[in-house]
Amino acid sequence: MKVSANYDTCIASGNCGYIAPGVFRNLEEHGGFISLITEHPPESEWPAVRRAKRLCPSGTIFIDETGSAR
Ligand code: SF4
Repeated sequence: MKVSANYDTCIASGNCGYIAPGVFRNLEEHGGFISLITEHPPESEWPAVRRAKRLCPSGTIFIDETGSAR
């Protein structure tokens, strides 16, 4: 899995960091906008990443399910 984000569309709702804190952060010093901790999360994080993508109100999160682990 490879994760990416369109930083131009994030509206800083904070959902992603709440749902998948091992992959996304919404740092106060960044105005709560998305920060990606890793583009290649471990398999244990995949369900949370998919949920974060589904619940992102601005369609900012993208997942390439075919992306290699490294
Ligand atoms: S859930 Fe979407 S809109 Fe909300 S902070 Fe994360 S990327 Fe931005």
